[in-house]
Amino acid sequence: MQKMEVKIPSYPKSSYTIAIGAEFLSTVLLQIKKLLPAGQLFVITDANVAKTKHLKNLLGKENIPRFVITPAGEKSKNINTVTKIIEQMEKKSLGRDCAVIALGGGTVGDIAGFVAAIYKRGVPVIQIPTTTVAQADSAVGGKTGVDSSISKNAFGIFKNPAAVFIDVSTLKTLDERQFNAGLVESIKHALIADANYLTYLQKNLKGILARKQKPLEYIAVKNCKIKAAVVEDDPYEKNKRRILNYGHTIGHAVESASNYKLLHGQAVAIGIIAANIIEQKLGLGGKERLEVLKKLFGRLNISLKIPKNITKWQILDIISRDKKTVQKWPRFVLLEKTGKVLCKNGQFAIQVERKIVEETIDILLKK
Ligand code: NAD
Repeated sequence: MQKMEVKIPSYPKSSYTIAIGAEFLSTVLLQIKKLLPAGQLFVITDANVAKTKHLKNLLGKENIPRFVITPAGEKSKNINTVTKIIEQMEKKSLGRDCAVIALGGGTVGDIAGFVAAIYKRGVPVIQIPTTTVAQADSAVGGKTGVDSSISKNAFGIFKNPAAVFIDVSTLKTLDERQFNAGLVESIKHALIADANYLTYLQKNLKGILARKQKPLEYIAVKNCKIKAAVVEDDPYEKNKRRILNYGHTIGHAVESASNYKLLHGQAVAIGIIAANIIEQKLGLGGKERLEVLKKLFGRLNISLKIPKNITKWQILDIISRDKKTVQKWPRFVLLEKTGKVLCKNGQFAIQVERKIVEETIDILLKK
């Protein structure tokens, strides 16, 4: 038998720029062309975003091929949509020198990033997020993917964008429920990384909800700085990146048990309150923080009660299949104090006794 070694040079370190501002969408195409001079472009957006002025603002009079995901939202975040998009790109004779532009919320960004990662073994993707979720979270960090009929993001790959352009004025057309729910990710960022940011959110929520340019830019910058710092430290979620899942263990379970009737942010708000209750039961404190959070979520019109048709057993079943699970029981990201995640023996996701979790769910079912 003969053996030989194939030496694969490791990927060069990569980086990308996030541009944040207002009313600059009409200048973005030119910036993309400068960044990626040779290639053809392909835009992926969805039916709702296509109805707004944003697509026109981005493209001007340029006739760039595009795919409009219909219907918009999670329903279309599946492999059939990916196949349709890829076949459309082939019909337009796009080669390996093309680049994909994602204009939309997290579903568009996740689908477009996944398409870009696999089209002819990978082409660049540019993220232009237009929701509070996408601007705070999904456009940065390189997680992409689509759902299977069984679970969320079952098909997935890391694909960092070539650039991100955050124009906060695109948020003006987003409906209020979506806008408010997406702000929960900003609150999560403050809780895990920056107590002063939580104070800022409390003090400036009125301006944020009025969609004023200055506070929206401020939170976009803060969110990107916090997420980027975590992702730079642990790009492939081996450990520290798990802190971004604060509130997501019970949050995801409630979202899934509601059959996605609750928006992600609404469910994560419940998950954040659950984490706070667990922190108190473990003697980590945070009584005052809980009151602050209840008020903040109240101002966002987010109910903190687990919907009536969901049972404790459903939630326990779903969390036993969580991605942070060890021996069929999840680990939880918890706060040591506002702005700092608890780290035990170098781990950012901590084992919590089943009894404590059950008592916490009971409290949130009764609320
Ligand atoms: P979404 O993309 O479905 O957008 C919500 C709704 O708003 C849709 O109907 C959309 O058409 C509409 N919309 C988007 N922008 C608009 C605008 N400016 N004006 C008017 N309407 C607009 O949902 P989302 O909340 O942005 O993202 C949720 C998705 O993101 C989920 O699939 C989730 O798994 C994913 N996600 C991914 C990451 C990641 O790291 N990759 C992080 C968080 C969430």
